Amino acid sequence: MKKILKHYFGYDEFRPLQAEIIENVLSKKDTFVLMPTGGGKSLCYQIPALKLDGLTLVISPLIALMKDQVDNLKSNGIPAEFINSSISYPEIIDIQFRILQGEIKILYIAPERLVQENFRKFLNEVNLSLIAVDEAHCISEWGHNFRPNYRNLETIKKYFPNIPIIALTATATNKVKEDIINQLNLECPKIFVSSFNRENLNLIVMKKKNSFDKILELINKYKNKSVIIYCFSRKETEIMANKLKENGHKALFYHAGLNDKSRKLNQELFLKDEVNIIVATIAFGMGIDKSNVRMVIHCTFPKTLEGYYQEIGRAGRDGLKSDCIMFYSIGDKRKHDFFIDKMEDEKSKKHMQEKLQVMIDYSETRDCRRKYILKYFGEEYPKETCKGCDICLEEKEFFDAKEIANHILSCIKLTGGFFGTNYIINVLLGKGQIKEWHKKFYLVGIVKDFSDDELKDIISSLINLEFIKKNNGQYLTLSLTFKGLDFLDNSIKLELPKPQKEIKVIRKKLEKDFDYDEKLFERLRILRKKIADEREVPSFVIFSDASLQEMAFCLPKNKYDFSEITGVGKQKLEIFGNLFLNVIREYVEGDNYLEDDKTNLIKIIEIEKTEKPKLKNWEITKKMIDKKIPINEIAKKQSFTEDTIINHIGKVVDNEENIDINYLKPSKEKFEKIKHAFEICGMERLSLIYSYLNQEFSYEDIRLVRIFMKLGKTKI
Ligand code: ADP
Ligand code: MG
Ligand code: ZN
Repeated sequence: MKKILKHYFGYDEFRPLQAEIIENVLSKKDTFVLMPTGGGKSLCYQIPALKLDGLTLVISPLIALMKDQVDNLKSNGIPAEFINSSISYPEIIDIQFRILQGEIKILYIAPERLVQENFRKFLNEVNLSLIAVDEAHCISEWGHNFRPNYRNLETIKKYFPNIPIIALTATATNKVKEDIINQLNLECPKIFVSSFNRENLNLIVMKKKNSFDKILELINKYKNKSVIIYCFSRKETEIMANKLKENGHKALFYHAGLNDKSRKLNQELFLKDEVNIIVATIAFGMGIDKSNVRMVIHCTFPKTLEGYYQEIGRAGRDGLKSDCIMFYSIGDKRKHDFFIDKMEDEKSKKHMQEKLQVMIDYSETRDCRRKYILKYFGEEYPKETCKGCDICLEEKEFFDAKEIANHILSCIKLTGGFFGTNYIINVLLGKGQIKEWHKKFYLVGIVKDFSDDELKDIISSLINLEFIKKNNGQYLTLSLTFKGLDFLDNSIKLELPKPQKEIKVIRKKLEKDFDYDEKLFERLRILRKKIADEREVPSFVIFSDASLQEMAFCLPKNKYDFSEITGVGKQKLEIFGNLFLNVIREYVEGDNYLEDDKTNLIKIIEIEKTEKPKLKNWEITKKMIDKKIPINEIAKKQSFTEDTIINHIGKVVDNEENIDINYLKPSKEKFEKIKHAFEICGMERLSLIYSYLNQEFSYEDIRLVRIFMKLGKTKI
């Protein structure tokens, strides 16, 4: 199995539980997998798929993702396809044909396909080895993402009683887990639950004060790296994106109010690293499988910890250190209250209030954040400090807190437990609105050496120590516990951590994983982008950031060294090895770049820098077509294949731009033959045309003729 892992995926080691899960699947037993986002669930069915002799059927709700996933598998030399509504009928026929020939190992489908009579019939003829149900929580109404279509899966066990099923999800409470197992009728499934800890994510909570400046500071440190910024409302995403643009950053916004086309486009530009910052509502994310997101920022705290953990789960899927920053202000609570108050069902209302309170407690805790989250999900974190949250990264200094604690606790006691944090602080500092009957208290204005924020921190510490209890409900009042009362009576020694200094924390956490050469990394990134654009796939399908960093650290000299890099399997070694080795070699050997490469590099960098959206590749092609440049020369100029250029022309035509391509007309005889083939075989499947014409004409010719036919310029 390890050989398969290295050969196809280029990885040396399995992640926790992967090997055990794969073994269980291969022994033909049903399997249930609960593993956090980025944990590596896909391999748990992809490797068995390669070992088993028939087809592995993968059911996934994420239609938008299927193409990327399949491209990714193909780039690793694994024969995979997908069938969903974006695929034409002739193409489906073609794929089904190849499946029956045993040429395809993995097929992705959406759940609704399963109930189609035709597709069922087809499946009955297939040598099926394994069924994988990804995002399995979608089947449960108790989950957070119920999809009625998933109910179609209830019958798979009946139709395929002897085929093992593996169900995978990143979010499932016990109830949801039971539900999934029941609905899918899994037979005594072996259950694998991996730790929810994501060691590579730094969990940082910051005070929401001058937050825009802080955001600028943060993204300046992540120049050109991918960042997701979550905002509370649609409006806020637009404002934030525009402000970032004004400050010279490449940012787009994304929310459910945008039309389909712009949503798709913005998502795509982000996926393909054309822009590095996306500012979004939580509508963004499901269906995002970008491995190199380095930072997720929340401008407003989310309404549940479950949601929060899932949203930050989109950072660092490649396993590299990434930052999750949340700006917290209790003032934002009313944004959530506004929606919760509108809920009619009292039970759900209460439920949401409780969830919100958890989120507030998380934000205010002075204990390790990781410990808090894991405990909430029912897991014990064994270490004393995690070295990856603002609390643990902070250099802890303690101070003698006896006097200040005394003041705070007395104030809560004397005001009768009817007031919240802000009011107590007002009294102690002698500022803001104070009730008439409190004004003569000896405590009013008694605190001189602590600021508002520092007092908040100290109160949080006292809550953690269980001296103070926070009461749920509309006003979040504070009252004393027995422990608190006891302290007031006996005035024992008390030391508390000094209030938080957050800027220090930002500095500390921004350390690289290892000391790779950043300049070389940049060059490798540019090469990767070029290759990805040419193939019209996202960059991570070529290599992950982790792989590039390793290259920029190890400086491989030859193909053997290169094959040792994580993420380099057999196929990628063959196809991309020399391209990347050349860049590394040239870099290592000094500044003797070919003049051409240099200008190219500068050009790309400049385009990356300018604020204006750069010309799309097909737009450049259009400009050259307008100048009547032959296809092979356009290809050379842009360093693309001719095939890609013809694709571009297709796009120009699809966009109904005016374009004169008459100078590209094929000869009359050629044209008629190919046109005839299209009329017989349909317009969709080029491979059909190619074989129908006995491979007499190239794909480029066939594509070109199709474009002319579309243009209606059939008279030659
Ligand atoms: P999930 O579906 O659990 O969210 P994925 O299957 O998409 O996670 O995997 C997340 C990332 O981890 C992918 O980039 C994948 O290639 C990588 N990965 C998975 N298994 C390993 C492994 N054993 N070693 C290194 N990287 C791995
Ligand atoms: Mg997955
Ligand atoms: Zn911690």
